[in-house]
Amino acid sequence: MTRVLLSFGGNLGDPVAVFRDALAALGDAVVKVSPVYETPPWGDADQPPYRNAVVLADRADLDPEGWLTLAQELENTAGRVRDPARRFGPRTLDVDIIAAWDESGEAVTSDDERLTLPHPRAHLRAFVLVPWSKIEPEAVLPGHGRIAGLLTDTTLAADARQVTPTGEALG
Ligand code: ATP
Ligand code: CA
Ligand code: CA
Repeated sequence: MTRVLLSFGGNLGDPVAVFRDALAALGDAVVKVSPVYETPPWGDADQPPYRNAVVLADRADLDPEGWLTLAQELENTAGRVRDPARRFGPRTLDVDIIAAWDESGEAVTSDDERLTLPHPRAHLRAFVLVPWSKIEPEAVLPGHGRIAGLLTDTTLAADARQVTPTGEALG
């Protein structure tokens, strides 16, 4: 069994409809889904606001590599096109693996560039930590401590105030 915390993000087309389709594709693997939030773009300001959510999911038959393949399939199904000149540019769907845990609940760590675990920038991102704290208030980001503690950092607390629930339901 591998449990993962996935982050969903998108700002082209109808991201909420895309999130719903991705969740339907994940099917029984889905354990918990956060509310949907509107958030400012990260790393590349010149684009529309994002919708973000996080999903806790479990699949007995997938290791973290298998999860990465599945995440990329979901992005491809959503018609994601990568612009090599714009790393953090607009996209229909981005699915990142924020963290993964094995069947005994141990966090999986990896410094492989193709799959880095935990995600190397998750601890800097209110658009990940705020939705995650909503579904798992006691969660720990492996290597960084409790997410509630991270969100008390001055910069993250300011960013968190711009992570706005939209009231759109995914479930
Ligand atoms: P960021 O990784 O900062 O959120 P991004 O999501 O815009 O940026 P992408 O273009 O979606 O970046 O992905 C670039 C590469 O990151 C992917 O090809 C993938 O192999 C790699 N990657 C490494 N670690 C992870 C992870 N934990 N989750 C998803 N992709 C990862
Ligand atoms: Ca990302
Ligand atoms: Ca990504």
